[in-house]
Formats: sequence, C-alpha cells, structure tokens
Amino acid sequence: MDKGQKFSVWFFLGALIFAWLFAEYIYKPYAEKQGEVPYSEFLADLDASNVEKVDITEGRITYAVKETTSPDKRPIVGGVILSNKKNKKTENLKSVVRLTDPFLIERLASADIEFGGIAKHDTIIDLFMGIMLPLLPLMIIWYLIFRNMGGVGGAGGIFSFGRSRAKELQGEMTGVHFSDIGGAGEAEVELREIIDFLKDPKRFDKFGAKLPRGVLLVGPPGTGKTLLAKATAGEADVPFFFITGSSFVEMFVGVGAARVRDLFDQAKKKAPCIIFVDEIDAIGQSRMNVYNGNSEQENTLNQLLAEMDGFEDNNGVVIMGATNRPEILDQALMRPGRFDRQIQVVLPTEEGREEILKIHTKKVPLAPEVDLRSVAKVTPGFSGADLANIANEAALLAARHKAEKVSPNDFDLAIERVVAGLQRKTPLTPEIRKKVAYHETGHALVACYLPGSDPVHKVSIIPTTKGALGYTMQRPTEDQYLVSENELKTRMAVMLGGRAAELLVFNEPTTGASNDLERATETARRMVIEFGMSSKLGPVRYAAPAMMYLGGATHIREDTGDDTAVVIDAEIRRLVTEAQEHAINILKEHEKILHEVAGILQEKEVINHEEIQAIVDRDKVEAQSE
Ligand code: ATP
Repeated sequence: MDKGQKFSVWFFLGALIFAWLFAEYIYKPYAEKQGEVPYSEFLADLDASNVEKVDITEGRITYAVKETTSPDKRPIVGGVILSNKKNKKTENLKSVVRLTDPFLIERLASADIEFGGIAKHDTIIDLFMGIMLPLLPLMIIWYLIFRNMGGVGGAGGIFSFGRSRAKELQGEMTGVHFSDIGGAGEAEVELREIIDFLKDPKRFDKFGAKLPRGVLLVGPPGTGKTLLAKATAGEADVPFFFITGSSFVEMFVGVGAARVRDLFDQAKKKAPCIIFVDEIDAIGQSRMNVYNGNSEQENTLNQLLAEMDGFEDNNGVVIMGATNRPEILDQALMRPGRFDRQIQVVLPTEEGREEILKIHTKKVPLAPEVDLRSVAKVTPGFSGADLANIANEAALLAARHKAEKVSPNDFDLAIERVVAGLQRKTPLTPEIRKKVAYHETGHALVACYLPGSDPVHKVSIIPTTKGALGYTMQRPTEDQYLVSENELKTRMAVMLGGRAAELLVFNEPTTGASNDLERATETARRMVIEFGMSSKLGPVRYAAPAMMYLGGATHIREDTGDDTAVVIDAEIRRLVTEAQEHAINILKEHEKILHEVAGILQEKEVINHEEIQAIVDRDKVEAQSE
C-alpha cells in the first residue's frame, strides 16, 4: 500500500468517526428537542385521554397525541378548504424528558394506553435512522468534494489515490484533425512523422529506426499546443491520454510518482497511443530551480524520467508535453530518449490568422463585406485562442442586435472587446472626463505626429471592464519580427504621450499614467540590459534569463556589480525621461490640435481613425502654407 492509499484509509476512518460523533452528540439531541413539551403537558394530555401510544427510552418519553377534535382551522380560499398537512404532523408527536415518576407505568396502564420501551438503538432500523440518516448529508458533501478531485471510484478517486487521472479518449473521440488547426504548417510537418509511426510502429522496426519518445510542444499560451496533440492522436487514430502536470503533483504527498507509474502502465496496454502532459513545467521544473526543495515534485519528475528510460524502443507509446515556460525545464528531460524533439508552436502569421478565423467562422453566417484577411491584418500578436474569442464575440454581437449576418463592424467591436474589455456604464465626472480626454489625446497625437508609429485606430474615453478609463488603439500595419532602437524610442514616446499632455495642460501628473510608466520603464530596461542599446554600458547583456513566452519584468543578473547597477538605473531613467520630453515637445508644437481633439473627445467620447487623421492632415497642410 503506498502512502496515498494509507492516507485515504485513515481519512475514511476519520470521516466515519466524525460522522458518528456528529450524529450522536449534535443531530440526535437536536432531533429529540424538536416537539419537546414540559412533563406537565404530558400529564395533562394523559388526564385528558389525549395520548394514544407511548415509547419510553432511557431518558425520554415520546408519545402520540390523538387527532384533535378542535374546529377545523384549515384556511378557506374561495370556498375551497386547503389542506394544512404540515401543522397536523408536528402536532401528533410529542416528547418529554423522562422525570423520575414512580407512577408512570401505573398511569399508562390505567389509562389503557399502548406503551413500550425502546433501549437506545434497539433495532437495526433505529440504528440506521439514528446514525445513517444524519450521516447521509455528510456523505453527500464528502462525495461531491472528492468527485471534484477526480471521481470517487474511478481513476484518481478517493479509493485510488495512486492511480493516474489520465482521461482516456479514443483517437476518433478527440475528433480533432489538422484541418481544424489553422496556421500550424511547420508544426504539422514535424508531427506527420510521429503520426506515421503511430499508425504502423512495425514499419520503423524493420529499418532499425528509433523514433523520438517524447515530443515537447513549446510556445506562448493559446497557440493551439493542446489542439495539435489532439490532432496528432486524431490523425493517427490512436487513444489519447490527457493529463496536466499540476494534477500529478497532488495535495496528497506521495501520489505524483504513483500516478506517473500508473499512467504509463495504462498507456502501454493501449499502445500505440499518445500520452499528453499539459503544463509539463509543473513537474519538469529544473530541480535546481525549486527552492524549498519540493520533494513531491522531484519524486514525480524522477518517476517520469525513469518511466521514459524504461521504455523499450518503438513500443508504440509517444509522450507529448506542452509548456510555455521551457526555460525552467530540467535539462534531464531534454536528453536523448526523453523529450528529445522540440516543436515551436509560434504565434500565427497573417496567413495563419486568416486560416484560424476561417475555421472558427465555419458555422457563422458572415455578411459578404466581411474580409477575414483584413481582420487578420489588424491582429498581429493575437494567438489562436484570441482569434477564436474574436470570432465568437463578433457572432454574439450580431446575435444581440438581431442581425441576419455578422458584419465587419461586429468584428471591429469584437477586437476592441478582446483588447480593451467591455464598456462600463459608470459615467465619469466632467473633471475626470476632461483629464482622461487630454490623456488619451496625448497618446493619439504623439502617435500621429511621430513617423514610424502604428496608425491610431480609435480613441475612446469610455471606461472599460479591464480597468481603463479610456484607451487609444493603434493598429499595426504588418507583423513585426524585428524592432529597431528608434522604433522602441517612438513607442516609449507614445506610451508617455498621455502623461505629457497632463503635465502640459494641468501642470501635474495623475495616477492614470501608472500603466504607461510601467510599460515605458520595462521597454527602457530591456533596451539597456537585454538589447545592448545603451552607449554607456556597451554591447553587453546584463539581463537574467527571462520567461520566453509569458512576458513579465526583466531582471538584471545576480552577478551584476553594484556600480554597473547604478549606471543601468541611470540609463533607464535617461531613456524614459527623454521619451517623456520628446512627447511634451510634440504636443507643445501642436497644442492647438491637442485642445481641439480633446474637446471633441469630451463631447463625442469616441474618435475614429478617419476623424483624427483628417484633423492632423489639415494641421499639416496649414503648417506648410504658413
Ligand atoms: P495553453 O498554453 O494556455 O495551454 P494551448 O497552446 O494548449 O494553450 P489550446 O488549448 O490548444 O492552446 O487552444 C485554446 C483554444 O484556442 C483552442 O481550443 C482553439 O479553439 C483555439 N486555437 C488555438 N490555436 C488554434 C489554431 N492554430 N487553430 C484553430 N484554433 C486554435
């Protein structure tokens, strides 16, 4: 019996004892208290010959009262007598605390009342009612809790802590094929080989070829890694075992390793098949990285490595893992014979985005004007999951305004929703509205006047559910794989355009620029410590390894000297300050336009690309003619 099973037995016994104590000392006394009357009332009932039947136990007397002949008190509505069962029932049974009454039996006998004594839990039924009944709700709650933790009897349930939770799905049941995945061309080519192998492992044996046992899908969240693994199983028509790394490392110590063992046992019986471990970083985290010595995670990882090593060649089981934190994985996982094949699942290109949108709008009635390519064009950086979300939001919007078909405008609004969140109904006070209007106009105008920045698509001062009081949306014209130093400086100036406008117009900043400052500072920090863009520090990287796909702040290496750290801070400050000054200068130069656009924005709440571009173009023409 492993630790997990022992634990479950103790837990079970503990729950039983608890339930018994609950039944005996809480439920029973409570139940007995219901309908309790004073002894004097019992005697009065006896005297009035109202008592029908009496049960005497050690400390209590329970008796049935005869049906009363009192006038019918049932309510009458519209001439119809309504039943009043509830009242009747509670009035029929009464109980009293048994006092020392030497004449009790005599009284009962002389009144010719049927009476009897029941010792505590005399009958099986009484035992059942006394213990099992109050226990029942507890057992139900208990069952529900454990069912949520993975099923009571089935794999992973309370009676099988050591068993893996891998849900087995037949290949056909995943129902996923490569035709359901958009823009995964390269990953698909690499996975084809695995599919061929799964379809006919013997063929590879003949040539003495060894296939990779483990395939690691690496990429940002929502890029379709799970979908690709499912499609691999679907195409090869083999069973697909799905489990998440975090569910290996359970709340019960000692379970993870047993789960791994069991999962592999199950899978080997079903070979050829695929085991897919999502979020493999939860177990595969480098043993060096895990402070506090998480031995549970380490045991699980060791078991996983041992199982992979113990595979015979080409036994038909392929393990696929997915992670968006490859940088923290234990190197031992990547060695030959383990996850020796890595497939990068990247954010989709424009073409890929169009394909994904097509897949997710297959069943959506689209207006003929909808051009999915142009939706793909304005959504660089969006993952497959984001695009699926946009297609769904657009369909929801169309359904809400009862349109026949989804229009380009629905897609436009859907993109905005995904980026900025839903509009909030809370109105801003005129004073805040004014500040927000200048802030957003600041961003927008710096973007409009600075060459090389992405065009402004929309400026809004309608608060959103993502916490913004307003937003300026820029839309890139193409996917950008490489960004120059100047482009980064331009981006920073645009980020600080809001604060620049506040300083220029109101002479003081507000807290509204906090997120802008965060982004600008992070950009400056990366320019200095990651991209070697500070002449003072030279082409040296001072950044500690960062998360590849999840973003987050970049930190300096621990071995960076104190003097260097001081220069790094100074350089970051210089870059951010320069960007702010740059933004202020642009806005000063176009202050008239700043007031004009901010005024329109306060009035209309939203300004679109065409409107703002027309004002800026007019200003440029006027400037030339002066
Ligand atoms: P995570 O790293 O967050 O677990 P993931 O990379 O495993 O994410 P999936 O769970 O496979 O991503 O994708 C989430 C959803 O996004 C899918 O169910 C699908 O609807 C959609 N999706 C993602 N990528 C694609 C794609 N390339 N083609 C079609 N749909 C996609």
